[in-house]
Amino acid sequence: MSETSSAPTQADVAALQQRQRLSFDLDVDICVVGAGLAGLTVALEAARLGASVAVLEGRHVGWNASGHQLGTVMPGYGVPVGELIARIGFDDTRELWSLSKQGAEFVRAAAAKELMPSMALSEGALEVSNVDVGDRLISRLQMLSEDFETDVEGWQVDHVRDLLKTRRYFHGVYYPKAFQIDGRNYVHGLAALARRAGARIFEDTPAVSIDASGIRKRIVTPSARLRAGHIVLAGNIHLGAPLRRLWETLLPVWRYAAVTAPLGERLAEAITFQGSVTDSNGVDHFRIVEGDRLMWASPETTWEARPQRFAGAIAGRIRTIFPQLGKVEVAEVWGGAIGQTVHGMPQIGQLRRGLWVASGFGRQGLNTSAMAGQLIAGSILRGDDRWRLFSPFELVWAGGPAGRVAGQIVGMWGRGSAAAAGALARYRERARVRERIREARLAEANRQAGTAPRRRPPPGRPHPEHAPPVAANPGAGNGREPGFPT
Ligand SMILES: Cc1cc2nc3c(=O)[nH]c(=O)nc-3n(C[C@H](O)[C@H](O)[C@H](O)COP(=O)(O)OP(=O)(O)OC[C@H]3O[C@@H](n4cnc5c(N)ncnc54)[C@H](O)[C@@H]3O)c2cc1C
Repeated sequence: MSETSSAPTQADVAALQQRQRLSFDLDVDICVVGAGLAGLTVALEAARLGASVAVLEGRHVGWNASGHQLGTVMPGYGVPVGELIARIGFDDTRELWSLSKQGAEFVRAAAAKELMPSMALSEGALEVSNVDVGDRLISRLQMLSEDFETDVEGWQVDHVRDLLKTRRYFHGVYYPKAFQIDGRNYVHGLAALARRAGARIFEDTPAVSIDASGIRKRIVTPSARLRAGHIVLAGNIHLGAPLRRLWETLLPVWRYAAVTAPLGERLAEAITFQGSVTDSNGVDHFRIVEGDRLMWASPETTWEARPQRFAGAIAGRIRTIFPQLGKVEVAEVWGGAIGQTVHGMPQIGQLRRGLWVASGFGRQGLNTSAMAGQLIAGSILRGDDRWRLFSPFELVWAGGPAGRVAGQIVGMWGRGSAAAAGALARYRERARVRERIREARLAEANRQAGTAPRRRPPPGRPHPEHAPPVAANPGAGNGREPGFPT
């Protein structure tokens, strides 16, 4: 986006040379509004299926989030699978999950060497827990691998900490088939593929109004008019005037990321895992790039700010998680706005005959926008109606400016309580270590004194000698440490 501090890449320069503005009237089968990941995937798929396609982009290809993401491709959605089952049932969740995997495979195929020569693929992504939740993890792992046919491994705390030398993380869920691409270049590769398939992409060409009432829809741009059988709205949080009510169903969240200067050997000592790492609270997301740099995304705001302002915050966050890295120099910072829906699921479907929406992909937009592109093009051109699986996730008003302020407060509160839960988990872990040392000392003292060890009460039940009066300590017996929030 305009505020990024990143220098133009080769792909940017090549894209600039191809930039074309729409200055003549046009009649097409499908008009796509927005040349981000979502719009370009619809365009590519529809052109491959034989439709005439025009993409209108108000700025340039990948101007917003799509050109500023970290390139981690995972299965699933921003909503935990257990929550989805509770909302729409097991069978539909299973189908949605399978679609999300197809989306990831689409990205893999599109980014494959022969199609995008500069795209480096690397395998594996790890989701680490900030709290000690081994038991909960096991049932989730079972469900993902047995019911959702997804390759996953559960990693014990020791294994996670062998590879990521920090006490902040506990267990991990490893997805061996997740992968990373060069996030900032992928969108340009996608545009090249769409062009090659016959789609026409017009940049610096905002759609300023649409009339979707007739069989042939009308789209107005500053210097031309289009007619199309179908319109696909893929403008994310910047859609604005053409369909203000749709635009108001998204909460914009600006997310900021950075790449550090080379960190040399100290990085290899702190991190030996080569894939992407995300924490279970959705706060930190990082991986090693170019051998000894860290790429790290973390801060978020619900208003647009200069990414450079967050360089210090990102360096501070890295130091908090990996203090052994010492002072970290940030080489480059950038940001992009994601569209967050109230229910957390993307908006994919037909709003009225011939008027489609593909937006609200949140922090996990690579696999989900690819899936949206396949579903919408497949429906328009082949009658595939699986997009209806998203119908339970209706368009919900995000609350306008007041909702955005509320969103920031809820986000801060969520991150704050996640930090407190992490602190509690680390406290408990330290307490367990202290307890083990104390027991070892006691056993040694007993051995030397020739006295028998005292029997411990069964877990969860306080020792009768130490049981506090119930009314005086309501937290006793429920596993909570007094004085800590849960
Ligand atoms: C820092 C960061 C890191 C991320 N990392 C990852 C990651 O590792 N993995 C992952 O899966 N996801 C990641 N994401 C999320 C992902 O980038 C987004 O979900 C995805 O890019 C959204 O794509 P989109 O096409 O919906 O929106 P956008 O990228 O916003 O594209 C929409 C386009 O529409 C154009 N537009 C809007 N209105 C109009 C109009 N009226 N006329 C013409 N054009 C219009 C805009 O100019 C824009 O270019 C990350 C996001 C950020 C910000």
